[in-house]
Amino acid sequence: MKIAIIGAGAIGSIMAGYLTLQGQKVILIGRKESVEAIKEKGLSISGVRGELNVKVDVCQKLEEEPDLVILAVKTQDIEPAMKAQNVELKGVPFLAIQNGIRAKGLLKKYTKAENIISSIVMFGATKLGPGKIVHNFEGSLILESPAVLSQEIASALRSAFELLVVDDITGMKWLKVFVNANNCIPAILGQSMQECFSDLDVCRISIAIWKEGLDIVNKAGIKLVSLPDFEVERINKLTSLAAWEAANIFSGIMTNLSKEPLYGSILQSIKNGKSSEIDYINGEFIELAKACGIEAPLNRKLVEMVHLVEKNKSFFETSKLLGELKELLN
Ligand code: NAP
Repeated sequence: MKIAIIGAGAIGSIMAGYLTLQGQKVILIGRKESVEAIKEKGLSISGVRGELNVKVDVCQKLEEEPDLVILAVKTQDIEPAMKAQNVELKGVPFLAIQNGIRAKGLLKKYTKAENIISSIVMFGATKLGPGKIVHNFEGSLILESPAVLSQEIASALRSAFELLVVDDITGMKWLKVFVNANNCIPAILGQSMQECFSDLDVCRISIAIWKEGLDIVNKAGIKLVSLPDFEVERINKLTSLAAWEAANIFSGIMTNLSKEPLYGSILQSIKNGKSSEIDYINGEFIELAKACGIEAPLNRKLVEMVHLVEKNKSFFETSKLLGELKELLN
């Protein structure tokens, strides 16, 4: 089976490296800088599986029809990445690994809906530079199970990752939006998670993001479903406690996540001078609220602030952030 992975970033490279090591036939499609670096020096992956250097087949454009495409670009890059390929991919199964909800809808322009396998990546990785990736933590690869998910595809993926196959992935995908929805705060402040969430006032924002999100998904009739390492109960419990008590617990969790500073994907994009996926994280609450005829004022404000940081390349002071949100937090 030939697997093409589009996007030589953190997740695409991790998948290309580990699948290649398991003997799968992989071609990684990346931009010029990454392709040249990987051709010259191999793909370097460090982290939870040790220090590895993998020789991976790479090129800038897909020239041959594969048996599976793993689309590993960020959601906002799906359309340009699809347009750049030199082959017709309408009949090929696609694995979409993007966070957020809208990747499948965007991909439907380029392949049939029944060919798309939605997924949730529960492991974490960071791209340090072209061909240099850190695998930060392990976690499963959760797949929904349309008919196109053949035994062959599942066993190829299972050779490198812990696979969890579910009938309906919707409730889990929405819960992942909640998990990622706090990444906007380090991005607005330009601080690590540990630094910003040591401030209880800032933690109150996170609880309020979840409260607003819960109101919206409840209104939309979406039932959240627990992820392997994240129970729905955690959100239900924290949003039902008094604000200060919840902020205290939240702070304890976030400041002890890791000894290394964690920045979250939104801030990492900004630091790398790239547009972030904020419209497909907190922005998902805004879109769903709109569809339900309600508002998502807090998430809307936070998305606007992240876009301001992206545009002005300067971060907010904590006091300024709290001041801007004052009325939305009461
Ligand atoms: P990333 O490191 O930025 O990787 C995306 C890669 O796509 C980048 O290397 C980018 O190239 C490449 N790309 C963009 N447009 C392209 C095009 N037209 N042709 C070829 N390559 C193109 O991002 P990531 O962290 O891997 O995230 C990818 C997706 O996985 C996101 O939707 C994210 O939500 C999801 N996800 C990530 C993690 C994680 O831990 N990283 C966990 C769960 C889910 P350049 O580097 O040249 O810009």
